[in-house]
Amino acid sequence: MKIILLGPPGAGKGTIAKILMQQDGSVQISTGDILRAAVAAGTELGKQAEAAMKAGDLVTDELIMGIMEERLQQEDCQKGYLLDGFPRTIAQAEALKQLLDKLGEKLDCALQLDIPRDVIIDRLTTRRTCSKCGEIYNIKSKPPKVEGICDVCGGDVLQRDDETEAAIENRLQVYNQQTAPLVDFYRDLGLLVSVQSSATEEVMEALKNCR
Ligand code: ADP
Repeated sequence: MKIILLGPPGAGKGTIAKILMQQDGSVQISTGDILRAAVAAGTELGKQAEAAMKAGDLVTDELIMGIMEERLQQEDCQKGYLLDGFPRTIAQAEALKQLLDKLGEKLDCALQLDIPRDVIIDRLTTRRTCSKCGEIYNIKSKPPKVEGICDVCGGDVLQRDDETEAAIENRLQVYNQQTAPLVDFYRDLGLLVSVQSSATEEVMEALKNCR
């Protein structure tokens, strides 16, 4: 499957991507994870992205398209991919369309996780992430077995820099202004599938409407 996951931060895109990945061998491509790894490794890319990320702003379209043009041509994308956190602007969506045309590939759908704002804010403020492997926890609904330690890899489980209240507010505003218009963009292309839930069964049901 070649799917775009659309939805505000905290909608559950990453969780759904991981479930789908286990089902059909497609890869999850999270631009946020790629950027966070670059920041942690102190690469040139990381240095260019760091300040915008910390504030909850978007990094430039050029930077993101550079990453994705390379990433989508890697071997493991042959079986399909789940784009998580990309595209995030109309400019990125148009550039992606051109890139896929060039590569001779077609998307199956853009899956919109349409989740209310109060649910999102509650999830984001209680979310914790493993600083080493990226495993996601939630202090209310899915705490690690030992506080602060990742069940999977033993890394430190922390609150992300951009998960302070101020940065969350900003990320939601950025989403509404820059990313929400992609819903119409993909509807116009006949690729939009929407679901008002991030529960696995409901998402799976909605995915049957993918072409
Ligand atoms: P979220 O949990 O908000 O979906 P991500 O992990 O996807 O966060 O992204 C974290 C940050 O990385 C964003 O706030 C933004 O600064 C940057 N980022 C990730 N993907 C993109 C993108 N496609 N375009 C621009 N910036 C991006």
